[in-house]
Amino acid sequence: MDNVMEFRNEPYTDFSVPANRQAMEQALRQVHSEFGREYQLRIASDWMGTGDLLQSLNPSNIREAVGVHHKATADLARRAVECAWSYFPQWSRTPAQQRAQMLLDAARILRRRKMEFDAWMVYEAGKSWIEAEADVSEAIDFCEYYAREMLRLAGPQNVIQLAGEQDELVYIPLGVGVVIPPWNFPLAILVGMTVAALVAGNTVVLKPSSETPTIAAKFAEVLLEAGFPEGSFTLLTGSGSAVGDVLVEHPKTRFVAFTGSRDVGLRINELAARAQPGQLWIKRVIAEMGGKDAIIVDANCDLDKAVEGVLVSAFGYQGQKCSACSRAIVDDKIYEPFLDKLAARAKQIKVGPSDDPANYMGPVISAGAQKTILAYIEAGKQEGRLVAGGGPAQGDGYFLPPTIIADVDSKARIFQEEIFGPVLAVTRARDFQHAIDLANDSEYGLTGAVFSNDPEHLRLAKEQFHVGNLYFNRKCTGAMVGAHPFGGFNMSGTDSKAGGPDYLLLFLQAKSIARKLS
Ligand code: NAP
Repeated sequence: MDNVMEFRNEPYTDFSVPANRQAMEQALRQVHSEFGREYQLRIASDWMGTGDLLQSLNPSNIREAVGVHHKATADLARRAVECAWSYFPQWSRTPAQQRAQMLLDAARILRRRKMEFDAWMVYEAGKSWIEAEADVSEAIDFCEYYAREMLRLAGPQNVIQLAGEQDELVYIPLGVGVVIPPWNFPLAILVGMTVAALVAGNTVVLKPSSETPTIAAKFAEVLLEAGFPEGSFTLLTGSGSAVGDVLVEHPKTRFVAFTGSRDVGLRINELAARAQPGQLWIKRVIAEMGGKDAIIVDANCDLDKAVEGVLVSAFGYQGQKCSACSRAIVDDKIYEPFLDKLAARAKQIKVGPSDDPANYMGPVISAGAQKTILAYIEAGKQEGRLVAGGGPAQGDGYFLPPTIIADVDSKARIFQEEIFGPVLAVTRARDFQHAIDLANDSEYGLTGAVFSNDPEHLRLAKEQFHVGNLYFNRKCTGAMVGAHPFGGFNMSGTDSKAGGPDYLLLFLQAKSIARKLS
C-alpha cells in the first residue's frame, strides 16, 4: 500500500498560463476527434450492445453527437443486480487496504487524464473550462478522501472494554448498491457515490444519467485500469424511467445512492421502502435532491462583493447546480443600488459555446431544459419585473442569457420552485429577520449564503438559516471536499454530507463483537 499523506484538495489548472491553455486546446481537439464513437454496456465481463441507441449531443452544437450508447433493458437491469450479488462475497472480503489502494490508483489515473476529462465535460455537459476543471478536481478529491476514510474505518474503533471481555466494533459492507447520479456534476457526483460504495466493499450497479453517458464510460475505463475487478461494478447505461424501478425494487438491492431531482428521489424512497418477496433487509436510501438556494444581502455589507457573490452563484454553469443561488433576498435600504449593479454585471456576461473560454456561460443541458426554463421566465415576467435577459440567446445550442426578475413575492412560483437554469428572483426584505424568514420560506434547505458585516446578524443566521451548507461573505456554490461536507435539509435530501467524515458510514454497517476472556 502507498505511503498515504494527509489529504489535500486537488489544485486547479491555471488556464491563464499559455502552456496550460495550449494543452487544453489540444485535449479539446483530441476529444472532438473521438466524437460519435459507440459505447457498449458491460455487466461483469460481458460487453454487449442492445441496438437501442442513445445519442449524447453536444449542447453547444446539437448537430454533433459526443457519443452513442446502447441502452439497457429491464432484463439486463435484473441481470446486473444478480451479477453484482454473486460477486459481493469475493469483493467484500478483499482487504480494505487493497480496495483503498485501487482508489488511490484511480485518483492518479484521473490526474494523468485530467484535461481529457475536462474536455469531455466541456463538450458533453456544456461546462466552461474552469467549471469542468473544478468538477474533475472534485472527483479526484473524492477518490483521495474516501480512500483515507476507508483506512480509518477499517482500523480499530474506540469502544469501551468491559472487564473480562475483549470488545470490538468492525465496519462491514452492506451488499449490492444501485448508484444513480445526475448530469450536472457528471464526473464528481458519479465518482463520489460510486467509489464510496466500492471502497466500502459493496458491489455496484451504476446507472449514469442519459445526458452524460460518455463521461461515465470514460470513468469506467479508469476504474478497470486502477484494478477494480469487472465483477465489482457494472455500467448500465439506459433510461432511468425504463430501468430505474427494476433496479430499486430488486430484492437483492441492498441500498440506493441517488442524486437528482426531488420527484425522482421521492419515488425511489417510496419504492425502496416496500419489501419485495425474498428480500431480507430494509433498503437504505441515500438521496440528495433539489435546491432553491438563497443569498441574503444585508444593509451592512460590502456591496460589490455581494454583487459578485450572487452573480457567480446564480449564473456559474448556467445556474445548473443544486447549490446555485436562485433567490437574492436584499435589504430594502440597499435594494435599488444592489439591483442596478447586479443587472449591469449580468449584461456583461458572454454566452456561447463552452469550448471557447471567452464565454462565461455555455448552453443549458437539453432542449427539454431550455423549454422548461423559458416557461419559468415567462411566468416570472408576470410575477415580477424583468431587469436582465428574458428570452433565448442565439446559436446552434441550447443558449439562454442570464435572467434577473426583481420584486418577486415569496409566494411566486419562481421564488418557490427549482428552475435549474440561469434565472434569479430578487426579493425585498424589510430587515434582517424578515430576510431570514424569506430565505427559510421553502421546502428545500440545501445551501445559503449571507453577505453582512454585522456579527449579530451572522449569529442569527447561524442559528436560524435552515440549510445544510451555509456560507458567510462568499458564494453559495463550490463546496470543497473535506472542508464543506455537502448535503441538504428537508426536501433537499437525506443530508448525507458527501466529502465529510460521516459519509462512508452510509455505505457500511457496524458489527459489535464481544469475546469472553477466560
Ligand atoms: P433527475 O431527472 O432526477 O435524474 C437523476 C438520475 O435519475 C438520472 O440518472 C436519471 O436517469 C435517473 N432517473 C430518472 N428517472 C428515474 C426513475 N424513475 N428511477 C430511477 N432513476 C431515475 O435529475 P437531473 O436532471 O439529472 O439532475 C438535476 C437535479 O439534481 C436537480 O434537481 C438538482 O438540484 C439535483 N442535484 C442535487 C444535488 C445534491 O447534492 N443535492 C447535486 C446535483 C444535482 P435518466 O437520465 O436516464 O433519466
